[in-house]
This record gives sequence, structure tokens and C-alpha cells, in this order.
Amino acid sequence: YAKSMGRNRYAVFKREMEKVVVRNHMLERELRKALVESRLLLRFQPQITSDNDEFIGVEALLRWNHPSEGIISPAEFIPIAEENHLIIPIGEWVLKKVCYQIKYWLQQYGASPFITVNLSAVQIRHSDLVSYIKKLLDKTKIPPSLLELEVTETVLLHEARISIDVLQELKKLGVRLSIDDFGTGYSSLTYLKKLPLDKLKIDRSFIKDIPGDPDSETIIRTVIGMSHDLGLEVIAEGVETKEQLDYLRKERCSLFQGFYFDPPITIEQIEEKYFAQVKQKAKAGNTIINFQ
Ligand code: C2E
Ligand code: MG
Ligand code: MG
Ligand code: MG
Repeated sequence: YAKSMGRNRYAVFKREMEKVVVRNHMLERELRKALVESRLLLRFQPQITSDNDEFIGVEALLRWNHPSEGIISPAEFIPIAEENHLIIPIGEWVLKKVCYQIKYWLQQYGASPFITVNLSAVQIRHSDLVSYIKKLLDKTKIPPSLLELEVTETVLLHEARISIDVLQELKKLGVRLSIDDFGTGYSSLTYLKKLPLDKLKIDRSFIKDIPGDPDSETIIRTVIGMSHDLGLEVIAEGVETKEQLDYLRKERCSLFQGFYFDPPITIEQIEEKYFAQVKQKAKAGNTIINFQ
């Protein structure tokens, strides 16, 4: 009986695996089309300061509007795009969209929040990344500090030498750099000190269980303390409740992002909800919305 159960379970597993493989093939084929058919789109999630609840920037997050399946999450299609290097043209599309959005905001309102863009390891290792971004900054003439680039710790662990060089080149362009999903990898303090960073993003998995979970609390307190010591900004991602917010405020976390404020929303929604603040700052003569 046990044996047949085992065999049965294996058959189910195998069938499920086959489904995934077939689906991934389908997605890969269609992803190529999606890019040229403008089926990729961006949503924007606000970043809010701890002092005064100021709106200062947004993270750009990719979506795929699939003709029959509806919106597909980046968690599903980014890994496929990385495997077949479609992430290079897709990533360039995102960077271009974002820089022109900043340019538009500056022209239209006289001020712009910063926009932060996720970079995949494949992009970092691709030799044209730095020159592509330089070209975009030259063309749009936006202040480079309005563009922020996020990389995860895992990006830095593999081929660390290349990644550090690329980050240093990017920093020379004047863009801001942050480490995404911080705490899930294994970066050491000495390692972090070598990088030209501006910001750490505490991973959502630690925010989920606070207040109350002693391990998460310890990690959060350590990361915040470390950020302050290293002169870095620190942002908590995935803030969903008032209790989490109060705890993070008490621990002197400087920035927040999460469903408590907004999920990733459209440009129109961002403007509608947050641009009164931006316009006010433009009036006061601040082009760059910055909290320092
Ligand atoms: P990420 O960069 O860590 O982005 C944060 C993710 O957490 C987003 O998921 C966001 O919608 C979600 N999130 C934000 N606040 C909350 C919250 O309060 N609760 C919960 N449960 N979730 C929250 P999303 O948009 O599905 O993106 C998933 C991942 O896909 C991103 O993680 C990023 O690694 C990747 N990604 C998204 N856009 C791009 C892109 O343009 N390029 C690359 N290379 N990767 C991207
Ligand atoms: Mg991110
Ligand atoms: Mg993250
Ligand atoms: Mg993530």
C-alpha cells in the first residue's frame, strides 16, 4: 500500500512538473511578444518618511498584462526573462520609462519624487548596463539622484568583483543605490562598507511578525542601528499595519513602503493622491523631493 501511494505521489509530482515546464515555455514565447506589443506595464508604490509622513519617492514594479491570463506577477515572469536574457531589453524598457516619467514630472510640475528600479543579476553582469544608463541620463537631463537602483544581496554574492565594479561605475553617474530584501542574504558589515550604498531595504519577511516575534525584532533593530552607523537610509518594506508602523517608528526606521499606505498603483493614482505635496515643494523651490 505504502509503495503504491509513493508511486502515485510521484506520478502526481511528475505531472505537476510537466505542467510547469509547458507553462514556462508558453510564457517564454509570449513574453517576447509582450514587449513589442506593449503588454508590459509599470505600477508605482509610494515611499513615505517616518518624520511628517512625507511622500518622497516610488518603486517601479513590473506587470505583464497577458491577453488571456490577465495580470501576471513579476515573481513568475522575471525568472523566465532572466533565463533567456529577455531581462536585458525588458530592463532597458523599464529604465527608459522611468527616466522619461521623471523628466515629464519635472517639466509638468517643477519637481519630481525619485523613482527606484529593480535590477536583476543578469543586468548587472551585462556589459552595456552602465553606458545604457549614462546615455539615458544624458538624453533626459534628469538629476541622476532622482533615479535609484535596487539590487539584492544575492546579486552581490555571485561574481562579487564584477558587481562591486558595476555599482561603483553607477555611483559615479550620480544615481542612488539600495540593497533590496536586506537580511535574507549573508552580507557582512565589512562587505557593506565597501559598497557605495545609499539605502537598505529591510525585507518584508521580518516586518511580517512584528511586533512580537523576538528574532524579527532583533534583526530589525540590528539593521536599523547598522544603517544609522553607516550613514545609510533605511526603509521597511511590506508595512501593512499600524502596529508594525508604530514599532518601526519607535526603532527609528526612516522610511516606509507597504500596503498600509498603498499597494503598487498607477501613475494617475500617484499623482491624484500625492502630488499636492509635490506641487507645494515645487512652489517652495525644491525640484528634488528629498527628506534630508
Ligand atoms: P521587490 O523589489 O522586493 O518588491 C516588493 C514586492 O512586495 C512587490 O511585489 C510589492 O507589490 C510587494 N509588496 C509591497 N508592499 C507589500 C505589503 O505590504 N504586503 C505584501 N504582502 N506585499 C507587498 P511585486 O510587485 O509582485 O514584485 C515582486 C518582485 O519582482 C520584486 O520584489 C522584484 O524583485 C521583482 N521585480 C518587479 N519589477 C521588476 C523589474 O522591473 N525588474 C526586475 N529585475 N525585477 C522586478
Ligand atoms: Mg525592490
Ligand atoms: Mg524587496
Ligand atoms: Mg523581493
